[in-house]
Parts: sequence; C-alpha cells; structure tokens
Amino acid sequence: MRPFPLVSTLALAAGLALSGCATTQSAAPATPAAAQAQVPSQLPRNVRPLSYSISAAPDAANLRFSGSVAIEIEVLEATDTITLNAADLTFASVTLDGDRRARVSTDAAAQTATFRFEAPIAPGRHRLNIDYAGVINTQAAGLFALDYATETGQRRALFTQFQAPDARRFVPSWDEPNFRTPYDLAVVVPAGQQAISNMPEAGREAQPDGSSVVRFQTSPAMSSYLLFLAVGEFDRITTTAAGTEIGVVTRRGAGEQGRWALESSARIVPWFNDYFGTPYPLPKLDNIAGPGSSQFFAAMENWGAIFSFENILLVDPAITTEARRQAIFSVAAHEIAHQWFGNLVTMSWWDDIWLNEGFASWMATNATAALHPEWEPLLGRVDGRETAMRLDSLATTHPVVQRIQTVEQMSQAFDAITYQKGEAVITMLEDYVGADAWRRGVQAYMARHRLGNTQSDDLWRAIEEASGRPVRALAQDFTMQPGIPLIRVEGGACSGGQTRVTLRQGQFSRDNPNAQPLAWRVPVIASAGARELRTIVEGGSAQASVPGCGPLVVNYGQAGYYRTLYAAPLVARLTENFARLRPLDQIGLVADNWALGLAGYQSPAVALDMADAAPADANSKLWERIAGMLSAVHAMYEADPARQARFDRYAAERLAPILGRLGWSPRPNERANDAVLRDEIIGIMGFLRDPAVVAEANRRFDANDPSVIAGPLRQTILGIVAYNADAARWERLRAMARDERNPLVKGELYQLLGGARDPALAQRALDLALTAEPGATNSSQLIGAVSAVHPDLAFDFALARREQVEAFVDVSSRSRYLSGLASGSADPAMIEKLNAYAARYLTPESRRPADRAIAAIQDRVRVRRERLPEITRWLEARRG
Ligand SMILES: [Zn+2]
Repeated sequence: MRPFPLVSTLALAAGLALSGCATTQSAAPATPAAAQAQVPSQLPRNVRPLSYSISAAPDAANLRFSGSVAIEIEVLEATDTITLNAADLTFASVTLDGDRRARVSTDAAAQTATFRFEAPIAPGRHRLNIDYAGVINTQAAGLFALDYATETGQRRALFTQFQAPDARRFVPSWDEPNFRTPYDLAVVVPAGQQAISNMPEAGREAQPDGSSVVRFQTSPAMSSYLLFLAVGEFDRITTTAAGTEIGVVTRRGAGEQGRWALESSARIVPWFNDYFGTPYPLPKLDNIAGPGSSQFFAAMENWGAIFSFENILLVDPAITTEARRQAIFSVAAHEIAHQWFGNLVTMSWWDDIWLNEGFASWMATNATAALHPEWEPLLGRVDGRETAMRLDSLATTHPVVQRIQTVEQMSQAFDAITYQKGEAVITMLEDYVGADAWRRGVQAYMARHRLGNTQSDDLWRAIEEASGRPVRALAQDFTMQPGIPLIRVEGGACSGGQTRVTLRQGQFSRDNPNAQPLAWRVPVIASAGARELRTIVEGGSAQASVPGCGPLVVNYGQAGYYRTLYAAPLVARLTENFARLRPLDQIGLVADNWALGLAGYQSPAVALDMADAAPADANSKLWERIAGMLSAVHAMYEADPARQARFDRYAAERLAPILGRLGWSPRPNERANDAVLRDEIIGIMGFLRDPAVVAEANRRFDANDPSVIAGPLRQTILGIVAYNADAARWERLRAMARDERNPLVKGELYQLLGGARDPALAQRALDLALTAEPGATNSSQLIGAVSAVHPDLAFDFALARREQVEAFVDVSSRSRYLSGLASGSADPAMIEKLNAYAARYLTPESRRPADRAIAAIQDRVRVRRERLPEITRWLEARRG
C-alpha cells in the first residue's frame, strides 16, 4: 500500500502534511520478534481455512450486496463453535457439511461471528456454507462505490480495499495474513459492465435479466487482504512483458490515460523478475484506476490487481506535472515490488508490516534508479530519511517493529516509521553488506519462503548466509528500538595523510535531548577526499583515521540512519567547500544541519550558511531542499509580518535567479528534473507571495492563458491563484470545479479551493465540504487542504461537526483524521483542545495520533520561541 495521496506543492511549501502522518506508541515496549514463538492471532486456533469459494451479487444502486461462501476448513480439535471475522455482515444461514445448521452470534467490537452447533464437530476436513449480506461503503473500506459524472449521466463503479482488516466486510473469513488459502470468486455483473479480480476470467454465464455471472480462475494461496474485485464500465488496455499480460483498467473513455503506467509497468515487471530471481507468478497483472481519493492511501498491491486512485495512475496531458509523472512510475514500482515482497512472501502478522512497506519503498527507488537514472531518485532518499526522522526524533515515536494487536493499531501502523524509516534502514543494511550479497540473500529468501509467511528474522538469516556478516544484530538495533543515533565528530587534525577524529555516539532528540541515550551498532562511512573509511560505532566513542586531508564528510553517501554533528571547524570547512561536494552529500548535509539547528544542538546559521553557499547551477534536488527550507522559515515568521517581509526579500534574492534560469515555459530537450524544479520554485515563490510570481499567475488565470487550461504548470498556477485568491477568483475556481466532468480534475480543483489564505474563503471552503457538491470522497480532502493553511480553523470546524465530518473518512482512519487536521498548528491553545478532544472521544489506544499531533505542535512552538531569534540574527548579520 502507498499512504497519503500526494500533498499539494503549496502544502509542502508550508511545511505541512495534510494528514497527521506522525507516529505512535508512547509507553508500549518493543516486542522482539524472537519472543514471538507463535504468530499472533485474534481468532481461536481450533479451526483453519483451506479454501474459499465466494459468490457476490452487488446491488450498487442501493449500496448493499448479498453473498454466499463455501469454505473448506480443517478442524484441528473437536469443538462445537467456529469463530471467524465478520464486520457489518448479516447472516441468513450457516450450515456445516450440508445439513448441520448453526446458531449465529456476532461481536461488533471484536469484528467476529461465532457459529454454534448442537454437537461437537470432529477433527478433520469439513465444508462451511454461509449465506450473508453486507453493505457497499462510500469510503474505501471493504466493497465500496465511487461515483463520477460522464457525458451521459452519473456512473457508479465498485472496488474493494481490504488492507489491513477489511476483507471481513466482504466475506466472513479468517481475516489474518497468516491464513493463506486459494480463492475462487464469482460475481454478478450488470449488462454493459466488466469485472476485474486477481485472476483472469474463467467463464461467464448470461442471466435472463441481461446480467452475467463472471467466474475467475482460482488464485494461488494468498492472504485475505490481497483479494480484489472491481465492477463497472471499464476500458482495459494491455501489453505483454516477459510472458505476463500487463493491463491498466480505467473508467470507460479514459483508457489511453493509462498508457504511461502500462508502459512503465511493462518495464518494471521484467526488472523485478530479474532482481528477485523468481518470475512474476500470476498469469496477468492489472492496475485499476479508481475515480476518487482516500485520506490515507494512494494505491494498494492486491495480487495481480493493483488498485490506484486516478491521480496516481492516469496521465492527463492537460494537468499532469512532471513530478506527478515520476510519482506514477514510482508508485507503480512500489506496488509491483509487493507482488513478490508482500504477496508471494507475506509477513505472518502485522508486526512486520514495516518489512513489507520498507522493502517495497526501497525496491521502488532502486527500480526507478535503474530504469530512469535521469530522475536521480537516489537523491530523494534524503527526503525519506528526513520524513522518518521528523517523527522518530520525538518521544512519541515507536520502534519500526511494533506490537500490533487491534484493528486500531493496524491502521495506525501505516506511518512514516513503517515506510520511510523502513526504507532508510534497508538502504543502510544493503550498503553495509554490499549490493550483490544483499541480492543473493533476497533471492534465497524468495525461493525459500515462496507462497509462505515470514518474520523479519527470516530475511536477516538469508542475508547473513549470503553475506557472512552480522546483519541481524545491526537490523535489530535499528528496528527493535526507537529513535535516531547522533554521531558527534570531533578533532580532525591531519597528519601522515590521515584525518584523525573522535566519533562519539549519542541520541538525537527534539523534545528530550537530555534523556539517557539508547545505543546502536551504527555503520559509519567517512571520506576525507581519499579512500573511504567504513567502521561500526558501537555506543560510546571511537577513534578513527580517515584517509586523506580534504573536507571530512561523515555519512558519506548518506546511506546511514543517523545524524552527524560536526565540531565547528570541521563544519566550517565543509561550508567553504560546499560547492565542490557531491549532490547527495550536499543535500544530506543541508538536511542534517538544519534539523540539528532547529533542535538546538547548534545554531541554525550552520545550515543557512551552507544553503547560502549553493551555486545557482547546483543540482535541482538540492535547490528543492533549499527552497523548502526557505519556505519553512517564511512560515515561522507568520506572527511577525515585518521580519517575514525582510526574510522573503532574502528568499526571493536566492530563488529568483533559479526561476530566471528555468523560465516559466519548458525549453526543448530540458532535463526532466528541471521541469520538476520549475514547478517547485514557482509554487514556493507563490507561497512566499512573491509579487512578480503572484501577478504572473493571476494574469494567466484572468486571461484564460493556455498554460492555465492545460499543461504541466496548470496545477501550480491554480494553486498560487487559490492561495492568494480574492472572493472573485475563488468563485471562478469553484465554478471550474463544479462544471468539471473529469473526476480526476474535479477532485484536484476542489482540493485547491481549500488552499485559500484568506480566512473568510477558507471558511467558505469548509462550508462547501459539508454539501453534496464536491462528492463523497472529495470532502475530506477539501477539509484537509484547509488544514494545511488554517489548521486551527479546520480542526475547530470539524470537531464541532464531528459525526458529519467523520462520515467522509475511511472508517479505519477516523481517529487519525481530526488530529491530523490540527497537527500543523503553532498555537499553544491547540494542545489543550487536542487533549480535550482525545479525552472525550478517543481510547488510550486510539489517542496516539492526538499525542503525536501535540508533540509536533509543542516542537513548532519551541522552535519559534527559541530558534527563530537566531535565524533573525543570522539574517541581520548577513544584510550588514
Ligand atoms: Zn506498500
């Protein structure tokens, strides 16, 4: 799965994520995987499923369905009850072996149904037949509907989303990943519609009313969360790659917009065949586009039938930016990586979801680097590391491997610790053992556990066997305990061609810097211009001699998951030589020193000086990071317009030459990343309210300039117009949204309406979200967009209408949603509001997102109070 649809440039510029993508776990201790002798389960272990044969008859118009399922089971010990998962299902009849009827009771809180028989069932194989009915949801959980407009009227298509715990909304089942079985699926499909599932169609029977019953081929043994079904009026375009049929499925008429994803997938599948050493195991692989959105995921790796929301799958030349085109490739690569790592080999329990997600994220970056080196995706790994560290540096963080026992915890597990820290740790470990040994280990792991379930240690064992290095011990340090190592670098005298330093280990923390630090075995790579030094720093301090006498870079290549704090003379030398460092290290150094400056380990001036030393023709990814940093400082000065204006003049002085070099229009044969940077710089200058940029965006909008109607800058220009809008322009945007037929464009336009800086217009957007106008899945995005600019307004509004607003949010994500709206606030009063909200509506377990939001707000308040004055002094000193 890929969480969080992409955040708008302006929201990013504001330094705010739309959702509360922060982390968990205040008190619960880590559970070493070694201690899990048994795979956790929330169901009795006396019965296990062997196969399912499901028939579903959706009644789309009335948002309900009926189903029947025959489950082959094995009873392991005599029992008169069978308990399995079921949520929002009603039961018409339950029989065992044809004639033994059961009494049914359900437990809504535990999401289970229990079938009670009059006499005990003997151990052995039996057949359970269940007739039941369920609901079709309007948010992405279980079987759900997405509505959209066409030239000839409204349409409704049906899709499923089962990860993590929602297959039980579609079929009564042992809905845990360790229960792997084959699935047979049949569905009643209305005339003129198609159905897609994991496997190709096996047969079709016409019914007297014009509908058909479509049966799919039997799936391989797989976990319930990977089952998929879609029914609607679809186009399907296909190609073949390495013997596999690759398809993209869209609403009818949009098929060609799937061409980029289709061609990309056709390149990605053979690359993974080769990497994993095991060919893609199903006869076909579809990627199905859903018209709509979810607050909390973008795409899902159902086996053979990936589901993606349209905005991360379809390319519409009229609106798709270069950044989005690249993201479509990388999300497809992520979901395709899961077809092996996740689907062919699956974690036994959700505790190890990180391995699934961290690995898929890491593989996606690698596949992208191999197939599109010109996008320089490896430079983006610093962004992932920073996203993870933002959460991992607060006391509310949690270990990568965490105990998951409840549905609530499952839903909270999909966070940046799972994804980005997971990817960062895997990057570091691969770098430690070497790419070849790592790959041999992964191939052995795939071969050994094919069609099976595993724990993290199974992977470490395979990598250790392939590499002969103690990767498990290192991995456990970084996955079983939370937080970030800090390596202090002192000394630096050079003699005999060696730079001598002391490396001292501590822990980097933003809110508890004086706590007793944890200890890690940290693989460190250092370079002083000659051969690099590789060593392990194991807690305490170590002396090191780094070959060469050049500027010393520790975490050379930026693969390490730690922060580096240099003694002042060492960092000064890096700044002097900044323009000559490699782009990856430039980006990593700016990010690291900025975080250290904001946390109070050193002055923020260190990072500002580095950024100041970046030449105008530096790597575009470095400029994206610097521009992000400048916009973050702009946001910090929110309460001080005079100083903000002064800072903005400095920011414009840095950014305007970049925009001058790139221009507003694409040049022939320009680098793809220049197009991405143009978009970013214009977006951020619009957020900084640069008069020239805002005027140009408004001019284009008012004149109906072609670049506003179509083209790669359209979203950015409209974003600037929306952010700086007056009532007239805002209403014009709203009319565009209302009149738009394309659901993809419509969703993005409604989201833009939430981005207005003027509080009165933000209020208008909130009111609009409660009407039917934006559409069922756009309202939560619209409120989320308001929260990126006005978190307090959005939170107060949503809390006052809590039930009404929560109806717009996926059921398993509701406890995160409201806290997420508040998490961008810089108002200390919000902390009390969140506490009051959590006390009233959340349980100790579901309040973790609220605690994370509170920690983020406290940190923001601290930075503005304690660190901003130093930034002001730096600015004043620089201006002389
Ligand atoms: Zn994923």
